[in-house]
Amino acid sequence: MRDHTHSDATDDPDEQPPCAMTDGGSSRSDLTLDHSLTSAGFFEALSEDRLVGGRCQDCDAVLLPPRPICNECGGSDVVAEDLPKEGTIVTHTNIHKTAPVFDDLAPLAVAIVELDSTGRFPARVEAPYDEISIGDRVRVEQREPTDADREFALDHEEDWPLPVFVPVDE
Ligand SMILES: [Zn+2]
Repeated sequence: MRDHTHSDATDDPDEQPPCAMTDGGSSRSDLTLDHSLTSAGFFEALSEDRLVGGRCQDCDAVLLPPRPICNECGGSDVVAEDLPKEGTIVTHTNIHKTAPVFDDLAPLAVAIVELDSTGRFPARVEAPYDEISIGDRVRVEQREPTDADREFALDHEEDWPLPVFVPVDE
């Protein structure tokens, strides 16, 4: 019986699945935990100062963080792409009640930023709340996780870098 091949622990590099690739897009059979279209792949790239998202080859949507299925059209022809790291704050808030490990940091400014690629994601802002506004330009940078970050993280996230938004002088 012919079946779609899913990755498993016995991957044989010489054995190509029958429907592996289409024009550079991803197929589920070539996805691994550290693939560029996974969260782990995203953070691996971030640790090298790269912001990687997915670009849907069918409808051009930007998927950030990257994922193998397009949330706009449902297509699976998604390619990992280095994205520009600057964008604009679309909303922001101040967190006064943080998890206890972050008490020293409170209040903590966080924002959702629309990158110039059109992808959006939330992260801390390295500026006081009253010094940032909707429409401000920021750039994504990465920081080494602190002891507090590691304590708060899930086990598989402990070594992931922390994305932060840094104000850009215009
Ligand atoms: Zn799409």
